[in-house]
Parts: sequence; C-alpha cells; structure tokens
Amino acid sequence: MSFKLAIVGRPNVGKSTLFNRLVGKRLALVDDQPGVTRDLREAAARIADLRFTVIDTAGLEDATDDSLQGRMRRLTERAVEMADACLFMIDARVGVTEADRGFAEILRRQGATVIVIANKAEGKAGEAGFYDAFQLGLGEPVQLSAEHGEGVTDLYSRLRPLI
Ligand code: GDP
Ligand code: MG
Repeated sequence: MSFKLAIVGRPNVGKSTLFNRLVGKRLALVDDQPGVTRDLREAAARIADLRFTVIDTAGLEDATDDSLQGRMRRLTERAVEMADACLFMIDARVGVTEADRGFAEILRRQGATVIVIANKAEGKAGEAGFYDAFQLGLGEPVQLSAEHGEGVTDLYSRLRPLI
C-alpha cells in the first residue's frame, strides 16, 4: 500500500502548486482567484526514488465565510485521517496567521505526523516567515518554493525516513 501524504493549509499558500510539482501533471487546479470551490484530489507522486500518493486539500476559499471555513476544516480533517503524514503549508511571505494557528490546532488534535512547509521562500522574501513558522510548535519548517522548485531536496530528506 502506498504511503499517503496530504498537503494541508489555508487557501492560496501554494498547496496545489506543490501537488502539481510532485505529481508532474497539472491535475490540481491552481488558481489566483479566491472563491473557487475544489475538493480532495489524490494522485501518484514522487521525489527522485521516493514514491507515494499525494492528497491536495481544497474547497474554500473565502475565509471570511464561516460555512466555507467549516468546509475547509472538515476537508482537512478528512485528509489527515486518510494520510500517513501531512505537509502543513504556510506562506513564508506572509508569516503565521490566525488561520494558520487554527490549522495547527486541528493537526495537533488529530495527532498527525506533520512537516511544516514555509512556501514562497524563493530569494530572501521568505526568511522571516520561515523563522516565524517555528512558533507553530510543529517542528522545524522546510523552506520551499513550490513554484520554482527550490527546497525539494530538503523536503526529500525529511520525507525519506517516513516512507
Ligand atoms: P492553494 O490555494 O494553497 O492550492 O494555492 P495555489 O497552489 O493555488 O497557489 C496560490 C498562488 O500562489 C498562485 O498564484 C501560485 O502561483 C502562487 N505560488 C505557489 N507557490 C509559490 C511559490 O513558491 N512562490 C511564489 N512566489 N508564489 C507561489
Ligand atoms: Mg489549491
């Protein structure tokens, strides 16, 4: 049975961009515009010799609407239940937000195996957000640029002992 890795986090942090990179096809919808409803997507993925199944969480995306927030939470909980481990992604350019803290709480409550990903960290722009991410209390974050493919070797090193 394939190892299952869920990518979770608030909308727009870059989950689908990473999903697409790991899958190697544009299966997940990447969208610049908030308000697009999506679902859980599952596909075969790999980084070098590591093969696994990746799950993209979506559905949302107007965080001001309580019902949509609830939907995002339920989707995340479902993904965590299905998964062996989670990549919890934050936007390193924005830093840790209240919504991020909410997701961290869900992951803690579910006892998920978590790797924190500080995404959009290309160049120096994500440095503050990377340090900020330690405050989530979920371990050392991985600096990543899902869009530019930077930090994937660090992600590999963190995933390798789990798979
Ligand atoms: P999701 O809602 O978490 O699935 O986020 P998406 O993958 O749809 O990405 C949201 C936006 O962030 C898109 O405009 C992406 O192009 C952009 N994005 C994703 N990864 C990166 C990255 O590593 N760096 C930068 N600068 N932008 C990114
Ligand atoms: Mg998405």
